[in-house]
Amino acid sequence: MFFLFGLRRQAKVIGQFERTCSKCGRQTVHSAIESQRWFTLFFIPVIPFGSSYSTRCNLCGLVLKASPELKAQVSGKALAARA
Ligand SMILES: [Zn+2]
Repeated sequence: MFFLFGLRRQAKVIGQFERTCSKCGRQTVHSAIESQRWFTLFFIPVIPFGSSYSTRCNLCGLVLKASPELKAQVSGKALAARA
């Protein structure tokens, strides 16, 4: 009997928002990205580890690390847009 362990990172875009990019210096649309780390067993994600957040400029592709509050900000904006 043997086991195949591994780690996998899944990234997904959780929202879009506008802000001034520090590289382009323009008001551009950024994607908010949530990266979830998973412990895998036989290539199947079993246990989720911590998430990390980042933003990506849709114009120049600049990726910056973001704080976990990003998720609340993006989902809060999405709720506000729906109301
Ligand atoms: Zn940019």
